[in-house]
Amino acid sequence: MAVFKAIVIEKADGGTKAALADFDEANLMDGDVTVRVEYSTLNYKDGLAITGKGPVVRRFPMIAGIDFAGTVESSSHAGWKRGDKVILNGWGCGETHLGAYAEKARVKGDWLVPLPKTMSAREAMAIGTAGYTAMLAVMALERHGLTTDKGPIAVTGAAGGVGSVAIAILAKRGFVVHAVTGRTQEGDYLKRLGAAEIVDRKELAGSAKPLAKERWAGAIDAVGSNTLANLLSMTRYGGAVAACGLAGGMDLPTSVAPFILRGLCLYGIDSVMCPIERRREAWKRLETDLDRQKLAMMTREIGLSDVFGVAPEILSGQVRGRVVVKVG
Ligand code: NDP
Repeated sequence: MAVFKAIVIEKADGGTKAALADFDEANLMDGDVTVRVEYSTLNYKDGLAITGKGPVVRRFPMIAGIDFAGTVESSSHAGWKRGDKVILNGWGCGETHLGAYAEKARVKGDWLVPLPKTMSAREAMAIGTAGYTAMLAVMALERHGLTTDKGPIAVTGAAGGVGSVAIAILAKRGFVVHAVTGRTQEGDYLKRLGAAEIVDRKELAGSAKPLAKERWAGAIDAVGSNTLANLLSMTRYGGAVAACGLAGGMDLPTSVAPFILRGLCLYGIDSVMCPIERRREAWKRLETDLDRQKLAMMTREIGLSDVFGVAPEILSGQVRGRVVVKVG
């Protein structure tokens, strides 16, 4: 397969343009492992790249797509051989390195993690970078010492990808989860994922007080801005908040009060350059700590050519749960 299908982003008219095109394997970038991509996903960052609404792509032409699951076709890396099932998240794929929305990808073997034994490539990408980030956030709260007896955990952007997976993982671990959402009509869906309570996101949308009534032992935030500031002011003494997203804004209008008066910790979650050992741990945990039936319930599948239509939906907060992209 010297030529294969890929979503290619080019510079155009002062902006960028994404289209499904034929791509020549000879133009793939350097790497020691070539993978036949089976599934990718649509993440928020993919939405930004495809629509050109955010400065995600830093090399042109670029193959979009920040994550994939597939099978090794050839390898000169000591850790991988033909036929191995692998997962890739981040490392600049779809940003600075040719990415995942293509039938083939060539990457560094050091970037790959093994597909967990009981997981299909489709399930891995139903989880995708959003779900793996949710796992990293749960791991951060657990490292902080949050246990189920400490009190409820809030999850913002609850009906989105990071939020949906975070709720399902936390519920399986036995935490009481409060789902913060702007889509209260998704209350039944969020409860089926394991949320005990639904909180209207309007309650966290205004300017935050330095300290407010203590509501949660911890939180996972996909939204940023006032939402994160309010979470900080509402987290109980000694608690922790894991910040992983900016769906509501990049700013953080807060004060030092929650940190110096309540001993709070704010953990930053980065999936892109996360060290390989922590990735392996996260994917191992996802094998056991995420209910597959709940994963199936939150997932819909699309093809490569559908990505253009769904990309604007994820940016406007209309996508429920996860979108898996069938590539191969
Ligand atoms: P989704 O679009 O699936 O979910 C985001 C959710 O945030 C929406 O569903 C909505 O939830 C809520 N939301 C959207 N807009 C607003 C707004 N203006 N104000 C308040 N809430 C809003 O995206 P993902 O879950 O895939 O990603 C979430 C965030 O996490 C993104 O910012 C993404 O870039 C980031 N991310 C970061 C990673 C990292 O490495 N740190 C990795 C992966 C994602 P609801 O309708 O329930 O309110």
